[in-house]
Amino acid sequence: MEKIFNNTQVAFSLKSDTELDRAYFLFKMIDNQPLVRIGTAVTNFALKANLPVEGLIRATVFDHFCGGVNEDDCLSVVDKMYTKGVSSVLDYSVEGKEEENQFDAALDMTLKTIEFAKERQAIPFAVFKPTGFGRFELYEKIGAKIALTADEQAEWNRVLVRFDQVCNEAHKKNVALLIDGEESWMQDAADEVVTNMMRKFNKEKAIVFNTLQLYRWDRLDYLKQLHEKAKAEEFFIGMKLVRGAYMEKEIARAIEKGYPSPICATKEATDKNYDDTVCYMAEHLDTMSIFAGTHNELSTYKLMELLKEKGINANDERIWFGQLYGMSDNISYNLAENGYNDAKYLPFGPVKDVMPYLIRRAEENTSVAGQTSRELSMIKAERNRRKGK
Ligand SMILES: Cc1cc2nc3c(=O)[nH]c(=O)nc-3n(C[C@H](O)[C@H](O)[C@H](O)COP(=O)(O)OP(=O)(O)OC[C@H]3O[C@@H](n4cnc5c(N)ncnc54)[C@H](O)[C@@H]3O)c2cc1C
Repeated sequence: MEKIFNNTQVAFSLKSDTELDRAYFLFKMIDNQPLVRIGTAVTNFALKANLPVEGLIRATVFDHFCGGVNEDDCLSVVDKMYTKGVSSVLDYSVEGKEEENQFDAALDMTLKTIEFAKERQAIPFAVFKPTGFGRFELYEKIGAKIALTADEQAEWNRVLVRFDQVCNEAHKKNVALLIDGEESWMQDAADEVVTNMMRKFNKEKAIVFNTLQLYRWDRLDYLKQLHEKAKAEEFFIGMKLVRGAYMEKEIARAIEKGYPSPICATKEATDKNYDDTVCYMAEHLDTMSIFAGTHNELSTYKLMELLKEKGINANDERIWFGQLYGMSDNISYNLAENGYNDAKYLPFGPVKDVMPYLIRRAEENTSVAGQTSRELSMIKAERNRRKGK
């Protein structure tokens, strides 16, 4: 496969010199582990104590990784990226809420983003998190098969209504809907609900997409079992394939509770699991659609190669590639430039509420071997190219 991701001119075509300098400065900071650790603690404290740090956060990490504080803020970014063929997924990234009115607010926001997507070619998907619609502990209890109290059952029924409402709306408006994956100990309950949504709304094509986190060694078998159900009951499978964002937490909990870790033993095993699953899905595109959410260049090339081998068009509507806004532009923009379907998650929400998301990004960029240095070397190469060096 021709290597296309080193083309920095395409990758940064939308960034001015100043924006490029700012990105360089930011990744330099993120590259510094102690700084990220201290910065995270100080920021959390300052936000809790209502100190005026929002301006600083906005000027640094927030504006780099987010589209704005509300959905309207994001539209200029959406339009700008689409001039280069890169689509957007508006991601209301408010996390960790516990109240019914907050779940209803997340529902309303997701319905709104479905409406936005309906109106704009540049937004091909909507997205939400299961714990945006209901309490984490409720999913956990159901997953562990612990009986719910009458009040909890009523609460769960409201969660099911929220799922049904958004999936129904997405189906009516023909907008594909991604549902994020979270911690394994709440995921069984979410998987069951999402599968029911696929049964109901994926009769003609994949509208509802669940997420497979392939750092989990059991997920390919899970997909194969789901495939059997889908064949027998005649529905389509939509899957976002990611490696998974909660590895440290997963391993720590397994040790604490004394059960086998659900995570692949090595990074190489996760990589293989990811690529095998992409391959399995690509073999069954008659009933499956893929959203490959990854910043891994090798996995991305592998899927491109599979499409080529099978004679599938780069812009086949069943295959999407996805990255996060603020990361791996070299992959996103070069994929789009070469005719592939690519969409970036564009997070938005009040600064304070988006902090868990931002902290995950900062920590991920600090810990994922090679990610930050790759970003830095790409930016450096582009700066040099512009200076004619
Ligand atoms: C569009 C998009 C949507 C996403 N949605 C979700 C989501 O819904 N849920 C979610 O959990 N994450 C989600 N993520 C984040 C994703 O799971 C990864 O954290 C992130 O993308 C880094 O993985 P990578 O595939 O880009 O590649 P890489 O950088 O090659 O891989 C890093 C990943 O490999 C795994 N890994 C690292 N070390 C080891 C090890 N020693 N043993 C085993 N495995 C290891 C971890 O999962 C780690 O995050 C999303 C990412 C994108 C781009």
